[in-house]
Amino acid sequence: MKAAIYHGPGKMTLEDVERPSIDPAGILVEVRASGVCGTDVKTFLRGHRFFEPPCILGHEFAGVVAEVGSQVKDFAPGDRVAVAPYVPCGFCPMCQGGLFELCYKKSGVSGGAFTQYVSVPKEVLERGTVRLPEGMSFAAGAMAEPLACTLNGLEDCRLKLGDTLLILGAGPMGLLSAQAALAQGVGKVIVSELNEERLSKAREIGAIPVNPKRDNLKALVKRETNGLMAQAVLVCVGFAEAVEEAQAYVAPGGVINMFGGLPKDSTVTVDPGLIHYQQVSLVGSFGFTHVQFRQAVELMAAGRIDAERIVTHTLPLEQAAQGIKLSAEQKALKVMLVNEG
Ligand SMILES: [Zn+2]
Ligand SMILES: [Zn+2]
Repeated sequence: MKAAIYHGPGKMTLEDVERPSIDPAGILVEVRASGVCGTDVKTFLRGHRFFEPPCILGHEFAGVVAEVGSQVKDFAPGDRVAVAPYVPCGFCPMCQGGLFELCYKKSGVSGGAFTQYVSVPKEVLERGTVRLPEGMSFAAGAMAEPLACTLNGLEDCRLKLGDTLLILGAGPMGLLSAQAALAQGVGKVIVSELNEERLSKAREIGAIPVNPKRDNLKALVKRETNGLMAQAVLVCVGFAEAVEEAQAYVAPGGVINMFGGLPKDSTVTVDPGLIHYQQVSLVGSFGFTHVQFRQAVELMAAGRIDAERIVTHTLPLEQAAQGIKLSAEQKALKVMLVNEG
């Protein structure tokens, strides 16, 4: 099978590799669509401690069941599925506490998805494999993972119906979060971003777009919330200054969520008065749970979220490296790699 092999920062080549084998209780999925994520971009540019080269990147994918193990009863060749890259064990102390995304013993698929086939073990088949409803595209299926991450981030924002959410950064995660928040009944979503194309996407989705270079963001948040400020600020960019700035926009009792990861050794200055007297919470969110993965597919199937509208470039697997570069240079918002099958 063909695979885009990552050989260290800046190096990726298309190679022929052996198809992964399957467990008697697992399946083999032929990948039809796989999304390029910020993690893939970071790994390609600078390397990543989770991805030792040589390896295959990509963890957002959907496809067709190509083969099933002898013990598999619920799936058959030809089924269209979205597959979570990992699932929690269900038994460790984190899982028992309901913190599935922090599971100590996650099970994952055979490797990255920038290839033709991925082997799905028993655990991921049971808890992280969802049939795509009729009419849902493979590209939409591949968006289930990033959408699930935004559902996780929003849960930690503790928003109530009618609240105002401010999102800093209109990259794929910021825009997906905006859609998900509106689908969940948030009153207003304000999106702050410098890139005009991304801002117009935010407007299309139903958010209030702001370019902080042009408009006074604090004054706008104040106006839109009748002086209260935002009940939650979701920081979807990866720098400390944004977290520091977020403190100016949050309402008393509100939440600032560090949704974008910061570079290692970053420090953030926090106003202790805001945390203590104003009871503002500073939280973080990472990853997703198998429950949110299923919810993501349901929300798209019900037409509540059109995650595919974030996709700006569809490229064949052969152009994986190019797709990552387009994302890195912000020339693409979301790149989808496809295999014709
Ligand atoms: Zn991702
Ligand atoms: Zn666990």
